[in-house]
Amino acid sequence: MKRRAFLKSTATAGIGAVAGANLSAPAYATGKRKLKMVTTWPKKFPGLGTRAEQFAQDIEDSTDGRISIKVYAGNELVPALGAFDAVRSGKADIYHGSEYYWQGLHKAFSFFTAIPFGLTAMEQDQWIFYGGGQELWDELSGQFNIKSLVCCNSGVQMGGWFKKEINSLEDFKGLRIRIPGLGGEVLKRLGATPITKAGGEIYLALSQGNIDASEWVGPWNDLAFGFHNITKYYYTSAFQEPGAAIVAGFNKDVWNSFSKSDQTIIKAVAGSNTQKSLAEFNARNAASLKVLVEKHDVILKKFSDEILVALQRTSDEVLQELALNDDLTKKIYNSYMDTRRSAMEWSNVADEPYLRSRRLYKDFGKKL
Ligand code: CA
Repeated sequence: MKRRAFLKSTATAGIGAVAGANLSAPAYATGKRKLKMVTTWPKKFPGLGTRAEQFAQDIEDSTDGRISIKVYAGNELVPALGAFDAVRSGKADIYHGSEYYWQGLHKAFSFFTAIPFGLTAMEQDQWIFYGGGQELWDELSGQFNIKSLVCCNSGVQMGGWFKKEINSLEDFKGLRIRIPGLGGEVLKRLGATPITKAGGEIYLALSQGNIDASEWVGPWNDLAFGFHNITKYYYTSAFQEPGAAIVAGFNKDVWNSFSKSDQTIIKAVAGSNTQKSLAEFNARNAASLKVLVEKHDVILKKFSDEILVALQRTSDEVLQELALNDDLTKKIYNSYMDTRRSAMEWSNVADEPYLRSRRLYKDFGKKL
């Protein structure tokens, strides 16, 4: 009997049905399941690789070990970007990664990680849970025999490291910058040469002059890579990734074989890891930025409004073209933009005035 069919039958059949089956006694007695999770991250990669392991551990703990998950770093069991295919085909049970890596399979996947000038981490959850996002995601991923859940978010990323200042749109012309995905397409239209490189290759390329600039994640991850040793110009914030959602994608047969109770536990664990990951990124980014600026003399820069408007206008063009690829992408685009409009209307009334108001009196809350 194939493993999955067997797992399904043991989930539904009574004890007698497995008598004589090829299953060890302890596993039979406890109904334990051992699953494989492949990730797109290097081993113990801060915030993402470590979060994948935490997610797996939390599932094991909250099911009293009934479900245990072995986590494989990128390239350990399958190539990092082969994670989706491995889970789709049943070679692995779960992947932990970014949906925009699969945009070659379907253009709409980008909306489930981040798009230029898109939703923040909180707004992404607003879309997924209360704006119809999860249902559309199920429709998209279901075509590939996958069921995905948000289980991590990086929060607002940084614009990146630049060897020279970007003072006008002219400065993008000919700029060789490591920036993947839709953000890269936007900069290409403004005259830059976007280059896709894995994280581990950026430092060398930047130090040897093969690229002039690079975005990565944020201060926590960027400090670890040492980009400040090459250049001091650090731009905030990332138009390309205002809050990258990271997901757990389950083989749909595996997901459907879970009891309703286990599905509920896994969804709850995914939710708590999303919340904690965002808290962790914010805490560690703040501390790491302080080190970059105060210890390593990094100069924090912002793009001018003229540049931001041009980036946004170009992003809008790129996204509209993307949406017109097929009916499902258009439906996902329209749903996403509905949430974006609604979130902006509310944050204009609530968050923005509050954040402004608390900056007005600078002596508040001094250390006692
Ligand atoms: Ca990034």
